[in-house]
Amino acid sequence: MSRRKLDLGDLVVGAQQGQPMAVARLISMIEDGAPELRDVAAALAPYTGRAQVVGITGAPGVGKSTSINVLVTALRVAGRKVGVLAVDPSSPFSGGALLGDRVRMQDHALDDGVFIRSMATRGHLGGIASATPQALRVLDAAGCDVVLVETVGVGQSEVEVVSLADTTVVLLAPGMGDGIQAVKAGILEVADVFVVNKADRDGADQTVRDLKYMISLGRRDKAGPSWRPPIVRMVATKAEGVDDLVGAVEEHRDWMLGHGELDARRQRRAEAEIEAIALAQLRAKLGDVRSGHPLLSGLAKRIVVGELDPYRAAEELIAELGV
Ligand code: GDP
Repeated sequence: MSRRKLDLGDLVVGAQQGQPMAVARLISMIEDGAPELRDVAAALAPYTGRAQVVGITGAPGVGKSTSINVLVTALRVAGRKVGVLAVDPSSPFSGGALLGDRVRMQDHALDDGVFIRSMATRGHLGGIASATPQALRVLDAAGCDVVLVETVGVGQSEVEVVSLADTTVVLLAPGMGDGIQAVKAGILEVADVFVVNKADRDGADQTVRDLKYMISLGRRDKAGPSWRPPIVRMVATKAEGVDDLVGAVEEHRDWMLGHGELDARRQRRAEAEIEAIALAQLRAKLGDVRSGHPLLSGLAKRIVVGELDPYRAAEELIAELGV
């Protein structure tokens, strides 16, 4: 057994015991696409599936960080262990950020019931889309009851919060041109809970009315059991409305459990994850095949002399690569 393998075992045990350094190391390995990744995933698998994953999404400046900060406090008061994963490719905090270092989340830096982590993309096969579910597993295995995943905007190509989260919370704020944009971005389809943050500002009532109107126009309740996303008013800077948000998230979880939706979502999530990993592996193998590669040039020669068509050649290439 190599030393590295032993270290990995220690890290997994450490993470299960909720040791921040073990959690941080494992997530770094995931970010870096470390070769031990498969072993990490295999070792963690039996300890996962407990945490409720709550996606928090919305445009920059809408108040996500501020809301998460007060949400963490509320969840801690309720005795929950909380993980926060900030998945923001443009975030200045991304890139080797240590646990607890997010500026606006300093309130929780010394709380050993809170893990805060920013995700960066570097080096990982398949980028952040396949790294994030793995990082979620680490936090899950570390005993987090709730993991909050912060992402910017819906429809962001790199991370679809919807495919990551059990419950998706969409934040809006007055004066950000929400109405039309909301429809465009498809948030009505993905939001399980709406938050109108900055409810202390003019226009909050209008934003709530617009949302209500849009929800009333009908959404996914055409078929199957329907969940009507509640609208929570919040003033994150004053921690107003945060208990309502906690309540709405819990209600959604209960609804999902009652309708088999939690399992269905997790099934879809696992499917998307397999696909992302398979595609990344395929891309990596194909990436090694450049002009001049003997396999590629051999196939190309056969096309040129009319022995082979390119579709068949592509199939042969994939078969030869063994992917
Ligand atoms: P993020 O980019 O979505 O994470 O947004 P932030 O949490 O960084 O908040 C952006 C700005 O909005 C900050 O200056 C916050 O202090 C402010 N902000 C957040 N929530 C509220 C609120 O409820 N009311 C008001 N007036 N300002 C808020």
